[in-house]
Amino acid sequence: MAEPLINAALVLAGVVTGYLISSWVESFLHEYVSDALTHRVRKWERYPRLLRSLINTYYSHHTIHHVKTYRKSHDRMFDSAQQEEEVRRLLLERGKHGETIIKGVFGTRLHGWGAVKFTLPSLIPCGLLAIYSSHWFGLGLLTTVLLPPVMSHWVHPHLHQPFLQRRSHAPLWLRWFLGTRYFRWQYINHFLHHRYGGTSNFNLVLGADYFRRKVRKPSLKDARLLAELGAPGFNLECSEV
Ligand SMILES: [Zn+2]
Ligand SMILES: [Zn+2]
Repeated sequence: MAEPLINAALVLAGVVTGYLISSWVESFLHEYVSDALTHRVRKWERYPRLLRSLINTYYSHHTIHHVKTYRKSHDRMFDSAQQEEEVRRLLLERGKHGETIIKGVFGTRLHGWGAVKFTLPSLIPCGLLAIYSSHWFGLGLLTTVLLPPVMSHWVHPHLHQPFLQRRSHAPLWLRWFLGTRYFRWQYINHFLHHRYGGTSNFNLVLGADYFRRKVRKPSLKDARLLAELGAPGFNLECSEV
Protein backbone atom coordinates (compact mmCIF):
# COMPACT_ATOMS: atom_id res chain seq x y z
CA MET A 1 0.00 0.00 0.00
CA ALA A 2 1.27 3.52 -0.80
CA GLU A 3 2.66 5.41 2.19
CA PRO A 4 0.04 8.22 2.17
CA LEU A 5 -2.71 5.59 2.29
CA ILE A 6 -1.05 3.82 5.20
CA ASN A 7 -0.71 7.14 7.04
CA ALA A 8 -4.37 7.99 6.41
CA ALA A 9 -5.40 4.54 7.69
CA LEU A 10 -3.28 5.09 10.82
CA VAL A 11 -4.92 8.49 11.45
CA LEU A 12 -8.36 6.91 11.02
CA ALA A 13 -7.46 4.05 13.39
CA GLY A 14 -6.31 6.68 15.92
CA VAL A 15 -9.56 8.65 15.56
CA VAL A 16 -11.66 5.50 16.18
CA THR A 17 -9.48 4.32 19.10
CA GLY A 18 -9.54 7.76 20.76
CA TYR A 19 -13.31 7.93 20.34
CA LEU A 20 -13.86 4.50 21.89
CA ILE A 21 -11.55 5.22 24.84
CA SER A 22 -13.15 8.61 25.58
CA SER A 23 -16.67 7.17 25.29
CA TRP A 24 -15.85 4.32 27.69
CA VAL A 25 -14.06 6.53 30.21
CA GLU A 26 -16.90 9.07 30.11
CA SER A 27 -19.63 6.46 30.61
CA PHE A 28 -17.70 4.75 33.43
CA LEU A 29 -16.71 7.93 35.34
CA HIS A 30 -20.15 9.44 34.93
CA GLU A 31 -21.74 6.35 36.49
CA TYR A 32 -19.23 5.65 39.26
CA VAL A 33 -18.07 9.17 40.20
CA SER A 34 -20.36 11.95 38.93
CA ASP A 35 -23.58 10.04 39.70
CA ALA A 36 -22.18 7.55 42.23
CA LEU A 37 -24.56 5.74 44.56
CA THR A 38 -25.14 7.55 47.87
CA HIS A 39 -23.66 4.81 50.06
CA ARG A 40 -20.42 5.02 48.07
CA VAL A 41 -20.25 8.81 48.49
CA ARG A 42 -20.82 8.41 52.27
CA LYS A 43 -17.74 6.15 52.33
CA TRP A 44 -15.68 8.74 50.41
CA GLU A 45 -16.72 11.37 52.96
CA ARG A 46 -14.84 9.47 55.66
CA TYR A 47 -11.62 10.52 53.91
CA PRO A 48 -12.39 14.10 52.85
CA ARG A 49 -8.79 15.17 52.22
CA LEU A 50 -7.79 12.12 50.28
CA LEU A 51 -10.96 11.88 48.19
CA ARG A 52 -11.82 15.59 47.91
CA SER A 53 -11.69 15.41 44.13
CA LEU A 54 -14.31 12.63 43.91
CA ILE A 55 -16.56 14.29 46.51
CA ASN A 56 -16.42 17.64 44.69
CA THR A 57 -17.16 16.06 41.30
CA TYR A 58 -20.21 14.28 42.72
CA TYR A 59 -21.37 17.47 44.43
CA SER A 60 -21.12 19.71 41.37
CA HIS A 61 -22.63 17.19 39.00
CA HIS A 62 -25.16 15.14 40.94
CA THR A 63 -26.12 17.40 43.83
CA ILE A 64 -26.17 20.67 41.89
CA HIS A 65 -26.82 19.71 38.25
CA HIS A 66 -29.23 16.83 38.87
CA VAL A 67 -30.89 17.68 42.18
CA LYS A 68 -30.72 21.44 42.87
CA THR A 69 -31.28 22.55 39.27
CA TYR A 70 -33.57 21.28 36.48
CA ARG A 71 -35.82 19.89 39.21
CA LYS A 72 -39.18 20.08 37.49
CA SER A 73 -38.28 20.61 33.89
CA HIS A 74 -35.52 19.44 31.56
CA ASP A 75 -35.25 22.86 29.92
CA ARG A 76 -35.56 25.22 32.90
CA MET A 77 -32.65 25.49 35.32
CA PHE A 78 -34.57 27.24 38.11
CA ASP A 79 -38.28 27.33 38.85
CA SER A 80 -38.06 30.79 40.42
CA ALA A 81 -35.67 33.65 41.15
CA GLN A 82 -35.89 32.67 44.81
CA GLN A 83 -34.67 29.14 44.08
CA GLU A 84 -31.76 30.51 42.05
CA GLU A 85 -30.83 32.81 44.93
CA GLU A 86 -30.94 29.92 47.42
CA VAL A 87 -28.66 27.73 45.27
CA ARG A 88 -26.28 30.64 44.67
CA ARG A 89 -26.07 31.33 48.42
CA LEU A 90 -25.47 27.63 49.15
CA LEU A 91 -22.61 27.59 46.67
CA LEU A 92 -21.03 30.81 47.90
CA GLU A 93 -21.03 29.36 51.43
CA ARG A 94 -18.99 26.44 50.03
CA GLY A 95 -16.14 28.81 49.10
CA LYS A 96 -13.84 28.43 46.13
CA HIS A 97 -15.39 25.21 44.85
CA GLY A 98 -18.85 26.78 44.98
CA GLU A 99 -17.61 29.77 42.98
CA THR A 100 -16.16 27.41 40.36
CA ILE A 101 -19.54 25.67 40.06
CA ILE A 102 -21.30 29.02 39.55
CA LYS A 103 -18.75 29.93 36.84
CA GLY A 104 -19.52 26.58 35.19
CA VAL A 105 -23.17 27.71 34.91
CA PHE A 106 -24.25 25.75 38.03
CA GLY A 107 -22.56 22.51 36.96
CA THR A 108 -23.81 22.64 33.37
CA ARG A 109 -20.30 23.06 31.97
CA LEU A 110 -17.05 21.40 32.97
CA HIS A 111 -14.97 24.27 34.26
CA GLY A 112 -11.40 24.83 35.42
CA TRP A 113 -9.71 21.80 36.99
CA GLY A 114 -12.89 19.77 36.50
CA ALA A 115 -12.21 19.66 32.76
CA VAL A 116 -8.61 18.55 33.29
CA LYS A 117 -9.54 15.85 35.84
CA PHE A 118 -12.29 14.49 33.60
CA THR A 119 -9.87 14.17 30.68
CA LEU A 120 -6.84 12.66 32.45
CA PRO A 121 -8.10 9.04 32.54
CA SER A 122 -8.46 9.16 28.73
CA LEU A 123 -5.33 11.22 28.11
CA ILE A 124 -3.01 8.85 29.98
CA PRO A 125 -3.71 5.67 27.90
CA CYS A 126 -3.95 7.72 24.70
CA GLY A 127 -0.68 9.49 25.51
CA LEU A 128 1.06 6.12 26.05
CA LEU A 129 -0.42 4.73 22.83
CA ALA A 130 0.71 7.84 20.95
CA ILE A 131 4.27 7.57 22.34
CA TYR A 132 4.67 3.87 21.58
CA SER A 133 3.01 3.86 18.16
CA SER A 134 3.13 5.86 14.93
CA HIS A 135 2.81 9.64 15.24
CA TRP A 136 0.06 9.44 12.59
CA PHE A 137 -1.91 7.17 14.92
CA GLY A 138 -1.22 9.61 17.79
CA LEU A 139 -2.50 12.50 15.67
CA GLY A 140 -5.78 10.64 15.11
CA LEU A 141 -6.07 9.89 18.83
CA LEU A 142 -5.67 13.56 19.70
CA THR A 143 -8.66 14.59 17.62
CA THR A 144 -11.15 12.49 19.60
CA VAL A 145 -9.70 11.97 23.05
CA LEU A 146 -10.73 15.46 24.16
CA LEU A 147 -14.34 15.02 23.06
CA PRO A 148 -15.87 14.56 26.58
CA PRO A 149 -14.83 18.00 27.94
CA VAL A 150 -15.63 19.58 24.54
CA MET A 151 -19.13 18.07 24.61
CA SER A 152 -19.64 19.02 28.23
CA HIS A 153 -18.54 22.63 27.81
CA TRP A 154 -20.06 23.53 24.44
CA VAL A 155 -22.84 21.03 23.71
CA HIS A 156 -24.32 20.12 27.10
CA PRO A 157 -25.98 23.54 27.69
CA HIS A 158 -27.89 23.09 24.40
CA LEU A 159 -29.19 19.71 25.56
CA HIS A 160 -31.15 21.58 28.23
CA GLN A 161 -33.04 23.83 25.84
CA PRO A 162 -36.28 23.14 23.96
CA PHE A 163 -35.12 21.30 20.82
CA LEU A 164 -36.32 23.98 18.41
CA GLN A 165 -34.47 26.71 20.33
CA ARG A 166 -31.19 24.78 20.57
CA ARG A 167 -29.45 27.00 18.02
CA SER A 168 -30.69 30.38 19.26
CA HIS A 169 -27.79 31.01 21.66
CA ALA A 170 -25.21 28.83 19.91
CA PRO A 171 -22.08 30.26 18.30
CA LEU A 172 -22.03 30.03 14.50
CA TRP A 173 -19.44 27.25 14.36
CA LEU A 174 -21.62 25.00 16.55
CA ARG A 175 -24.93 25.44 14.73
CA TRP A 176 -24.19 22.83 12.06
CA PHE A 177 -23.49 20.19 14.72
CA LEU A 178 -26.73 20.98 16.58
CA GLY A 179 -28.63 20.08 13.41
CA THR A 180 -27.13 16.59 13.04
CA ARG A 181 -28.71 13.22 13.85
CA TYR A 182 -25.86 12.69 16.31
CA PHE A 183 -27.08 15.69 18.36
CA ARG A 184 -30.65 14.37 18.23
CA TRP A 185 -29.44 11.06 19.71
CA GLN A 186 -27.52 12.98 22.38
CA TYR A 187 -30.65 14.99 23.16
CA ILE A 188 -32.79 11.88 23.72
CA ASN A 189 -30.00 10.12 25.63
CA HIS A 190 -29.44 13.07 27.94
CA PHE A 191 -33.13 13.66 28.51
CA LEU A 192 -33.42 10.04 29.71
CA HIS A 193 -30.26 10.43 31.80
CA HIS A 194 -31.89 13.23 33.81
CA ARG A 195 -35.37 11.76 33.84
CA TYR A 196 -34.13 8.62 35.60
CA GLY A 197 -31.89 10.39 38.13
CA GLY A 198 -28.54 9.72 36.47
CA THR A 199 -28.87 5.92 36.57
CA SER A 200 -28.48 5.21 32.82
CA ASN A 201 -27.69 6.87 29.46
CA PHE A 202 -24.44 8.40 30.69
CA ASN A 203 -22.72 9.30 27.42
CA LEU A 204 -22.45 12.61 25.63
CA VAL A 205 -19.81 10.88 23.47
CA LEU A 206 -22.25 8.21 22.38
CA GLY A 207 -21.35 4.55 22.14
CA ALA A 208 -20.05 2.95 25.34
CA ASP A 209 -23.46 3.04 27.06
CA TYR A 210 -24.65 0.52 24.45
CA PHE A 211 -21.73 -1.85 25.02
CA ARG A 212 -22.13 -1.47 28.81
CA ARG A 213 -25.89 -2.09 28.56
CA LYS A 214 -26.64 1.25 30.24
CA VAL A 215 -29.16 2.50 27.70
CA ARG A 216 -32.78 2.98 28.72
CA LYS A 217 -35.25 3.45 25.87
CA PRO A 218 -37.99 6.09 26.10
CA SER A 219 -41.31 4.90 27.52
CA LEU A 220 -44.58 6.23 26.09
CA LYS A 221 -44.63 8.93 28.79
CA ASP A 222 -41.00 9.85 27.98
CA ALA A 223 -41.88 10.02 24.28
CA ARG A 224 -44.69 12.46 25.07
CA LEU A 225 -42.36 14.66 27.15
CA LEU A 226 -39.76 14.56 24.34
CA ALA A 227 -42.48 15.63 21.91
CA GLU A 228 -43.33 18.56 24.22
CA LEU A 229 -39.65 19.57 24.09
CA GLY A 230 -39.87 19.46 20.29
CA ALA A 231 -37.53 16.50 19.77
CA PRO A 232 -37.96 15.26 16.18
CA GLY A 233 -39.29 11.73 15.77
CA PHE A 234 -41.78 12.02 18.64
CA ASN A 235 -45.38 13.11 18.59
CA LEU A 236 -47.88 14.09 21.26
CA GLU A 237 -49.81 10.84 20.74
CA CYS A 238 -47.11 9.36 22.99
CA SER A 239 -45.20 7.37 20.44
CA GLU A 240 -42.00 7.57 18.46
CA VAL A 241 -42.67 7.94 14.73
ZN1 LIG B 1 -27.51 17.70 31.96
ZN1 LIG C 1 -25.35 12.73 35.39
